[in-house]
Formats: sequence, C-alpha cells, structure tokens
Amino acid sequence: MEHSTERAVWQALEQVFDPEIPKLSIVDLGVITNVRVDADRVAHITMTPTFSGCPALHVMKDDITHKVGELAQQGVVSGVQVEVSFEVAWNSNRITDKGREILHTMGFAPPPRLEGEEGKFYVPLEVLSDVACPHCGSRNTTLQTPFGPTLCRAIHYCNSCHQAFEQFKPLA
Ligand SMILES: [Zn+2]
Repeated sequence: MEHSTERAVWQALEQVFDPEIPKLSIVDLGVITNVRVDADRVAHITMTPTFSGCPALHVMKDDITHKVGELAQQGVVSGVQVEVSFEVAWNSNRITDKGREILHTMGFAPPPRLEGEEGKFYVPLEVLSDVACPHCGSRNTTLQTPFGPTLCRAIHYCNSCHQAFEQFKPLA
C-alpha cells in the first residue's frame, strides 16, 4: 500500500500517549513494532508490551483503535486492527532519542543505553547506581527503591539538590 497512508497511520500513532507519561508518545516509547496497510486499506498495527502484564497495555490498545479509527472516519483507511505480539521484545533501547529528551524534561531519568546487541543485551552493573539527577545533573544520587509507582520505574534520591526522581529502569 501507499507509503503516504502508512505515514498517516504513524502520525496518528504519534498522537497516542503513554497513559502514565502524557507527553511520551507510544511511538517514542518504542512499543509499535510494525504498521502495515493491506490491499483493503485496513491498517494493521503491531505493538509489543513494555512489560508483560503491564496494565497500561489495554489503555494503549484502546487509544490506538480510537485514534487510528479517526483516520477510518476520514476515509484514509478502511479499518483498524491492533495486534499485541511478543515477537519483537521491547527493551529500553527502543525508546527514541526524542522520547529520552521528553522523559528528561518531565523530570525522569531516562534508562541507560543497554550494551551488547539485540537479543543479547545486558545492563552494565555500574549504571544502576550511577544515575544522573534530571533536575540538577548531579551523579551523587542514591537508589531508594527499585520499585516505583509502576514496575517500570525506580525511585532515586539526589543528594545534591535533595529531590527524589524516578528512573525508567533499563530492561533488556
Ligand atoms: Zn539533583
């Protein structure tokens, strides 16, 4: 199918945001693994969950159906199919540079880049304790609890500016 139609679908997906981080689009979060518009002009969107059992998954799926459904109303596509697939596993390197920037401006420490290659990523040990404060940039920070408000986030405390902040945990 035409590239312009698929591009329109990607643009719609950029208007769907993580339910917990309202400025981070699901595209920048890296959960969309494939977009295909078939010969009947049905948009097939494949997404991978960030964490299995992530409660935000159903919200995201509904939001995608709704947002891309607007394209169907406009006649750009004829329908929407959202498939959740584990075939491409999410890892925190899938968060785009733009996504990392958004996390940072919202006061989150982005996850550190994983080392190694796809499928064989590892988390360098020092990065778990060496986290820069998103408020002041200090590395004099302490991990308070590895479990933040969601499984995906850890809470750190900055010893320089005395503010707590959340870090997106690296996930290989
Ligand atoms: Zn600080």
